[in-house]
Amino acid sequence: MTGAVRTTCPYCGVGCGVLAQKDGTLRGDPAHPANKGRLCVKGAALGETLDNNGRLLHPMVGGARASWDSALDLVAERFRATIAEHGPDAVAFYVSGQCLTEDYYVANKLMKGFIGSGNIDTNSRLCMASSVAGHTRAFGADVVPGVYEDLEEADLVVLVGSNLAWCHPVLHGRLQAARGERGTKLVVIDPRGTATSSGADLHLALAPGSDVALFAGLLAHLAGTGRVDQAWVAAHATGFDAALATAREAAPTLERVAELTGLAPADIARFYALFAATERSVTVYSQGVNQSAAGTDKANAILNCHLATGRIGRPGMGPFSVTGQPNAMGGREVGGLANQLAAHMRFDTPGAPDRLRRFWDAPNLATRPGLKAVELFEAMLSGRVKAVWIMATNPADSLPRADRVRAALAACPFVVVSDCWETDTTRLADVLLPAAGWGEKSGTVTNSERRISRQRPFRTAPGEARADWWMLAEVGRRMGWAKHFAWEAPAAVFREHAALSAFENDGTRTFDIGAMATLDEAGYATMQPFRWPLPAGARQEGGRLFAEGGFPTPDGRARLVPTPFRGLAAAPDAAFPLLLNTGRLRDQWHTMTRTGLVPRLSDHAPVPSATLAPADAARLGAAPGGLLRLASPHGEAVLRAAIDAGQREGEVFVPMHWTDAFTSAGPIGRLVGAAIDPVSGQPELKATPLRAEAV
Ligand code: SF4
Repeated sequence: MTGAVRTTCPYCGVGCGVLAQKDGTLRGDPAHPANKGRLCVKGAALGETLDNNGRLLHPMVGGARASWDSALDLVAERFRATIAEHGPDAVAFYVSGQCLTEDYYVANKLMKGFIGSGNIDTNSRLCMASSVAGHTRAFGADVVPGVYEDLEEADLVVLVGSNLAWCHPVLHGRLQAARGERGTKLVVIDPRGTATSSGADLHLALAPGSDVALFAGLLAHLAGTGRVDQAWVAAHATGFDAALATAREAAPTLERVAELTGLAPADIARFYALFAATERSVTVYSQGVNQSAAGTDKANAILNCHLATGRIGRPGMGPFSVTGQPNAMGGREVGGLANQLAAHMRFDTPGAPDRLRRFWDAPNLATRPGLKAVELFEAMLSGRVKAVWIMATNPADSLPRADRVRAALAACPFVVVSDCWETDTTRLADVLLPAAGWGEKSGTVTNSERRISRQRPFRTAPGEARADWWMLAEVGRRMGWAKHFAWEAPAAVFREHAALSAFENDGTRTFDIGAMATLDEAGYATMQPFRWPLPAGARQEGGRLFAEGGFPTPDGRARLVPTPFRGLAAAPDAAFPLLLNTGRLRDQWHTMTRTGLVPRLSDHAPVPSATLAPADAARLGAAPGGLLRLASPHGEAVLRAAIDAGQREGEVFVPMHWTDAFTSAGPIGRLVGAAIDPVSGQPELKATPLRAEAV
C-alpha cells in the first residue's frame, strides 16, 4: 500500500500491526511480529469507524461551547481549589487501557507525582488487575514471562477462562495454525461452551469460581506423581512446601476436586495426566480468571503449577496472561493502577518512592496507594472524592452496579470527561474535552507479550480534538508545575518514560527500556515494534524470561503462593437461584462507541441476548427470541432469550457491550455485583446471583 502508515489496532491485547491510509483503506501489517499481516473482523473494519459523525468537536463547560484555554483553566482551578480545601485525596483520575502509554505516563505523573495522591486508577482494573497481583506475588514484579511463539511451540495449550477465538482472534488463528502443523493438544477450561472450546481436545466446563480447586488438585497431582522439577525449584523458587500443603488441603482427592468443580473425575484425571506428561505446556488465562473475587488466587494457583515443574521461559512453556485491551500492559508500565508507581516500581519497594521523587523532582509524591476503581466511585458517592477526570472510558455503563456509578458521578461536585464520542458518562460531565482518537493520535502501546508498538496518526483530528497527554500537561502547567510538564511532543514523553525505567536500575528491575531514552524525533517516528526489556546497549529485543531464574525478588527466586479454596463471593440462593456471567462477543468492543459505528459488525449479534441452558429455558418457559426479565440484587433488565446447549445449567450469559445508546435494556453492568478480589481489587464480573422469568 503506497503511502500507508504503520500503526497498531486499538482493540485487543494481541496488538496487531495495521497499514492504514488517510481514506481509511487498511490491511494487516505483514511486517508486524504479532499478526504477520492477519487482522480479525473488528480490526479489518477499523476503516469504517473513521467517520467524524457524532464526534465531540469542542470543549464544553456546563453544556456550552468553551475555548480550550477557558476549559483547561477551569479544570486546573477547580482541582487546585479542591486540593486546597479537602486535600489531594479529594481528587482522582479514572483512565483507560485505550490511553496510549504517553497519556498514561503524564496522567500518572500529574496525579501521583505532583497532586500527591495515589488516586489514579484505570479500567484495566476490570481487565487484568488479578494477573498483575498474581505476577507480583509470584515473580516480584508484573512480568509476563512468555512470547507468542510459545503458543506455536507448545505440545499442550491450556486456555483458562478465555474465549480466545472471539476475544483474541489473531492469536487464536496462530494457535490453530500451529495445531494443524504439530498436533498441539488443546484443553479449554471454561464454564461455557464457546467457539474456542468447540475445537478443543478436552473442554472442562467447571463450576464458576472453582478454578483454584482444579489447579490445587493439579499441583497435588504433579507432586504425587513425581513431576515436580525438584532441582529447578530448589535453585529458583521458594514456598513450594506451603503451597503444596494448602493445595492438598483444598483438593485432597480427585473426588473432592470433582465435587468442587462439578467436573467428571475421569475428565479431571485426563487433564492432569496430559499436563503432567507434557513438558511443553502453556497455560493461557484471561478474564474468566481475572474477573473474579478470587482472581489473584486463581492466577497464583496456575503459576504454582508452572513454577513447580520449571515450565517457564523456555520454548513452548509458561503461564501466559493475555490482556483484554490494546494498552493494558503499557498502562501498567507507567503506574496506571492506583497501587503502582511508574516503571513497575511499587510503593512498598524499598527506595522506589524516593527514586521516583528525585527523578521527577516531585517533593509531593504520593506516599500510599490510592483508591481502586470500585472504591473510587464509592468514594465519589460518599463525598470523599470531590473532583474527578475520566479519560477514554465509560464507567457509567461498564463498571459493576452501573446505576450506583451514575449516582456517584451525579453526586460528584466536579466531573471532567475527555473522550471521542458522547457516552452515558460524558452526559454526566461538567467539563467535556474532545479527545483525538485512533488514527489521529501518536504514541505507543504494549501488547500481551511485552511488545511495544507505535500508534501513528494518518488523519487530522476533527474539530478541536486534542491528545489526552497534551490536555493533562496543560493542566499540570496551569496548576503551577510548568517545567515538569513541558513536553512539546509525545516522543519527549516517551524518552522520559524510557529514562525513568533505566534510572538507578542495577539490572534487578525487569522493566527497562533504557535503550530508548535517547531516541530522537526521527527515531521515534520510525520505531519498530520491540519487546521489553531493552536496556541501554542491548543488542536484541527482550525474549523469554526466567528459564534460569533471576526473578525480580529480593532473593532472586520466584514464590509459590498458598491458594486456599474459597467459594463464590455471592452464591445463588432461593431469591436469586441463577448466576449472571458477562463477557465479550466476537465483533463488538467495550461499550460499542467505535464498533457500534459499523452496521456489518452487528450482523453477528444484532441485539443483546441472555443465553440460557436448555434445561433452564424449559423450566422458565423461555423460547428463543422471547423476552426474559432478569433481576439481580442490583438492577433489572429485559432481554431476548437465547438457548445454547453449551451453556452450563444455572448460568445466564449476557454480553457486556450494549448501553442505553443501543438498547432500551441499558447496560448489563446495572445488574452486576461489586464483590472484589481482596488482593487485586478486581471486581467479580462473572458470577452475580440472578433471577429470571419469561415475560
Ligand atoms: Fe485488533 Fe485484536 Fe483483532 Fe488483532 S486480534 S485485529 S489486535 S482486535
